[in-house]
Amino acid sequence: MKKHNFYAGPSIMSQFTIEETAKAVKDFADMGLSILEISHRSKQFQAVMDESVALFKELLEIPEGYSVLFLGGGASLQFAMVPMNMLIHKAAYLDTGVWASKAIKEAKLFGEVDVVASSKDRNYNYIPRDYTVPTDVDYFHYTSNNTIYGTEIRKDPDVPVRMIADMSSDIFSRPVDVAKYDLIYGGAQKNLAPAGVTFVIVKDDTLGKADRVIPTMLNYETHVKKGSMFNTPPVLPIFSALQTLKYYKKLGGVRVIEKMDMDKAEVLYNAIDGSKMFMATVPNHEDRSIMNVCFIMKPEYKDLEKDFIDFATERGMMGIKGHRDVGGFRASLYNALPMESVKALVEVMKEFEAKH
Ligand SMILES: *Cc1c(COP(=O)(O)O)cnc(C)c1O
Repeated sequence: MKKHNFYAGPSIMSQFTIEETAKAVKDFADMGLSILEISHRSKQFQAVMDESVALFKELLEIPEGYSVLFLGGGASLQFAMVPMNMLIHKAAYLDTGVWASKAIKEAKLFGEVDVVASSKDRNYNYIPRDYTVPTDVDYFHYTSNNTIYGTEIRKDPDVPVRMIADMSSDIFSRPVDVAKYDLIYGGAQKNLAPAGVTFVIVKDDTLGKADRVIPTMLNYETHVKKGSMFNTPPVLPIFSALQTLKYYKKLGGVRVIEKMDMDKAEVLYNAIDGSKMFMATVPNHEDRSIMNVCFIMKPEYKDLEKDFIDFATERGMMGIKGHRDVGGFRASLYNALPMESVKALVEVMKEFEAKH
């Protein structure tokens, strides 16, 4: 049976990425060796690193003066590295979910944190709009896509200070005005590569300002200077990331991908909104994520939630169980997911609804 992959992360990758990665595991760059067993300082791997950085810059139209890094530690390490390197006195944070609050917790270790707004009062099912970012902060940090709750900030915010964003789960799903940011980061395992590599886009001249001791490995300057090769980088995930970047370029770039993603999300949200049985957990359409669609059963059908998961799984719908903090269902429609999978899910929802 055909499987449709709606996992939230690690999650679906393009067939191209998987096939090219499998080939390189057997024989990399015609070296007669696996990519798993060669030096990261070989010229063949250096070429992978260089091309990954170049394509990253090209696809996101990153201006001059920024570095693209590939590090370890996940987005979660960035929650600490960001304030350790960038927080001098005070930073502003927007609290839109668990990931955002984990970032806030780490920032508080390094300085004053102004949480400008939070949507915790309604279990993070909306994006706060009425807030002001003070002008005396070092940066404003936000999470562009809230993977767990299915909310998303799809437009670069307009605030009077420089921005830092966690774009783990919606990178390459839209153009980003990188010039407004000092730093953008994310774990790769949603829209880019297998788990194990973290991307960081950083404005070079913002580094080196914090007056504190920073361990070498946690200092962005180390990795900028050494081109992400201070120590052994996650070689295989970086190779896979390059394949995904090539695939994105072939598709036509982020504007084309954005249109595809919007179309997929529209099909699923329309089906949910038009159904007698299901409802979306995010009421405001503008706040709805096009990456993670969260939905539940209406109260009168609540006891059928478990049945629906089983019913859908039997029909090849993988990973649609909602996060435990939200319940219900979550269908992640990352860049690599084809429209065909969304339509298949909608059919299964209709079939289930007709039976009850
Ligand atoms: C998955 C996710 C994280 C956590 O990433 P790790 O790489 O596991 O640390 C952080 N932020 C967001 C928005 C995520 O979706």
